[in-house]
Amino acid sequence: MSVKIILTEPNKLLRQVSKTVEKVGEEERMLMDDMLDTMYAAPGIGLAAIQIGVPKRIIVMDISRDENKKEPMYFVNPVIKNKNEEKAKYEEGCLSVPEQFAEIERPNACEVEYLDYEGKKQMLNADGLLATCIQHEMDHLEGILFIDYLSKLKKSMIIKKLSKIRVNREIF
Ligand code: ZN
Repeated sequence: MSVKIILTEPNKLLRQVSKTVEKVGEEERMLMDDMLDTMYAAPGIGLAAIQIGVPKRIIVMDISRDENKKEPMYFVNPVIKNKNEEKAKYEEGCLSVPEQFAEIERPNACEVEYLDYEGKKQMLNADGLLATCIQHEMDHLEGILFIDYLSKLKKSMIIKKLSKIRVNREIF
């Protein structure tokens, strides 16, 4: 298991649509282990494979935010089967958009079908933070970032800020 480098906006790879996983095997499980290590080290509560440069439809999450009681969740090929009409607002952040936060509105509950760590078909009824988090991560599989929901002006300000941070890091 190892901690990988997390890609940040405006890296073009983040805009790629991830591919369906044919079979959950050793390679996929190793990837999920690395993703989990990377997510905990960041630290974050969710990570999609494309964020470490792998365009596969795989997500890891742990919304327990408790180091002593880890509750990792693994989602392969997740599909939203149902979502609530009602919306909820959360202040979202993203490991690929460092130190930027914005209030985003999403369905407050959803039903997700997916394959687990063993490749078994599962169904999840998510609400609250869990629903927001899985929807945020599933956006990554389509090449969508939470800043895409903001106004053009707000989004371009954030991207400009991020590009500056990157340049500074290279200079000093
Ligand atoms: Zn994210």
